Amino acid sequence: MSLHSNLRKIKFRLGYNPKVEKCSKFRKYIPEPYDSVVLLYADFELAWAWRYSKAFINNKSEIGKIARRERDNIPGILSLCDKYNAPVTWATVGHLFLEECKKENGKPHPNIPRNKYFENEYWKYQAGEWFDDDPCGNFQDNPEWYCPDLIDKILKSKIKHEIGCHTFSHIDCRDEVCTSEVFEAEINECKRLAVEKKIELKSFVHPGHTIGNLTSLKKLGFDSYRTDYGNILGYPVKHKSGLWDIKGTMELTYRKYWTVEYNIKFYKTILDRAIKNNSLCVFWFHPSFDSVFLNNIFPEVLSYLCEKSDKILLTTAGEYTCMLNKNN
Ligand SMILES: [Zn+2]
Ligand SMILES: [Zn+2]
Repeated sequence: MSLHSNLRKIKFRLGYNPKVEKCSKFRKYIPEPYDSVVLLYADFELAWAWRYSKAFINNKSEIGKIARRERDNIPGILSLCDKYNAPVTWATVGHLFLEECKKENGKPHPNIPRNKYFENEYWKYQAGEWFDDDPCGNFQDNPEWYCPDLIDKILKSKIKHEIGCHTFSHIDCRDEVCTSEVFEAEINECKRLAVEKKIELKSFVHPGHTIGNLTSLKKLGFDSYRTDYGNILGYPVKHKSGLWDIKGTMELTYRKYWTVEYNIKFYKTILDRAIKNNSLCVFWFHPSFDSVFLNNIFPEVLSYLCEKSDKILLTTAGEYTCMLNKNN
């Protein structure tokens, strides 16, 4: 066990991670008879999230591998969700709704305007054209870029999941990078494709938590977005745009610097703290996570949530913000 992994344990044990917020009026956010509310978000993006990623520059085979692992994991995730009655909010990249796409006059998606080059913590987009990696093919030949089959599988699940939005092509949404013209075109394309599957998009996650364009988001009919201010066990805040800011608590992932057993204990303890402090707990994950997480850790977390279902309301972001809008 390294010093680093022990320090992480100490920070966790002392309660510094996640940070616990206090609120005497917690009943505004946690409905009777529950002690806590838990939301599970999946950032559903296949290859789109990893284009221009600083971690995988010029490494297309690695990007394809992540996307295929995500595809392979999702049926297993869905059957666990069914088994433990766990609804997930799937923040879905809009391009995944498509069965296919084609270039028009030599250009992919000419109806979507493009942002200028940019760089942020995760991505560096400084050459080429934004849709250069789009195969302009179909979901059978290019399963890393389209996913109507799995979206249908999510919709047909026994448990009622929510399909949320993660932009059409996984853009950086910050106001200094993304114009409202680009943002609204991306979101309107997602809405158009969602309506074809009778889905109303209400919950949003900015790619890489690049928070921005909130006025447009509200105007386009959304209720909430998720933020990442560090790991917080707290309460949602109503932003001046009228949207609910849902603060992320912890990413569900296999923390390899710890044993599997300690990973399980870590997430269960966060849930115990959420119950004790009457907090909202927001877990989010990449469905491309390690198979160890899927097979050994995730079932334990979901089973614990199920066991605590008298104390914890496990719901989707859309259902939850609907409740918040009634009470606040
Ligand atoms: Zn396309
Ligand atoms: Zn993403």
